[in-house]
Amino acid sequence: MALHWKILIGMVSGILFGIIISYMGMQWLVKDWIKPFGTIFINMLKLIAIPLIIVSLIKGIVDLHDINKFKTMGVRTFVLYIVTTVIAVSIGLILVNIIQPGNQVSNDTIQQLSASYGTDMKSNIDKATATTANGPLQFLIDMVPDNFFKAASVNSNMLQVIFFAIFFGIALLLVDKKTAQPVKDFFTGTNEVIMKMVDIIMLMAPVAVFALLASLVTEITSPDIFVALGWYVVTVILGLMLMLVFYSSVVYLYAKVTPSTFFKAMAPAQLLAFSTSSSAATLPVTMERVEEHLGVDKEVTSFVCPLGATVNMDGTSLYQAVAAVFICEAMHFNLSFTDQLTIIITATLASIGSAAVPGAGLIMLVVVLESLGLPAETMAVGLALIFAVDRPLDMSRTIINITGDSMVALVIGKSLGKLHKSKPKNIDDNYNFEA
Ligand code: ASP
Repeated sequence: MALHWKILIGMVSGILFGIIISYMGMQWLVKDWIKPFGTIFINMLKLIAIPLIIVSLIKGIVDLHDINKFKTMGVRTFVLYIVTTVIAVSIGLILVNIIQPGNQVSNDTIQQLSASYGTDMKSNIDKATATTANGPLQFLIDMVPDNFFKAASVNSNMLQVIFFAIFFGIALLLVDKKTAQPVKDFFTGTNEVIMKMVDIIMLMAPVAVFALLASLVTEITSPDIFVALGWYVVTVILGLMLMLVFYSSVVYLYAKVTPSTFFKAMAPAQLLAFSTSSSAATLPVTMERVEEHLGVDKEVTSFVCPLGATVNMDGTSLYQAVAAVFICEAMHFNLSFTDQLTIIITATLASIGSAAVPGAGLIMLVVVLESLGLPAETMAVGLALIFAVDRPLDMSRTIINITGDSMVALVIGKSLGKLHKSKPKNIDDNYNFEA
């Protein structure tokens, strides 16, 4: 049976199990005895994320043999990342203006939700405001670490690690061939080892997603909120689905890869993104699928995917656009056409600034709302309004975030002549331990 089916079965049975356990009032069973396996799985994925980025980026750059190729790839990647994000925000804006979910929320719901979550939101607003209080070039400063080990010891410092790896890779490319060879060999070998670790971790995936989803379901407190905010949820999900249509069209028209091949290759990563709500945790699997199952060369995958995980978040930007307009509408805060244009810019930047971890998109939404001039009090109520349904939307937008990265990797691969027939050589699909 293909891996994605196994993961899917794990997810569905996890949800059913969670529902049954909740009915029986035995949430402790899941919390104490099942959830830990999900947490261990996520930890394992995060554990290899930083070494994977370092090793594969350095190897990828060295394999390019030519600094100019790196420049071309870099420019194309950035352009595509920005273009796809702007398209995502625009789709979100168009949908939210047509559906107008903010006008469907009753005052009762607003009051009820702000009473239960209003205070939680203050800390989120403070967190986001702290980020924006710095100068406009702060993000550049943040990207350059002053100590490699400090940078590599915190998962959220991914951009700093990427900076170091690119810098190292470029320098290695410039060193004379004979001296560089053993260093290259070391990274090539280590890269293989880490990819194999991904395969081994993935053997645990079906059980792990069972644990993750069962514990999520038992933690849901008020299912009726979904009905009250139904139109908002529908708008975001519809937008995310349109992004999938957009990706598969591009992939088909430009790279001649059929949507079914594309989605079959990416399904395990997508299901994992859904279960973990974290592009960073999913990164090792995203890279493995793009490289081995879509056939994109390592040079491209190892540059485009880690960068995309932190920088390119189409799902998050689309969600931020919809959520911003929804909140303003529900709070009767009028938005002009210029405001909507502001959203395109700020949601694009906010999604770039969002960390690739659960819930980051909601925190950075504050930046979008602040740019619209929403008063702090209103903002707290607005965020409280969407907070209860944020987790499932976070899970869904993370799927789009990683799918967007893989689409860009495929397109860049094709444009540079670095797209080949896929050659899955792993154990994750056929459980054959011989490489
Ligand atoms: N959870 C998302 C990710 O990791 C970010 C977000 O939208 O909250 O890609």
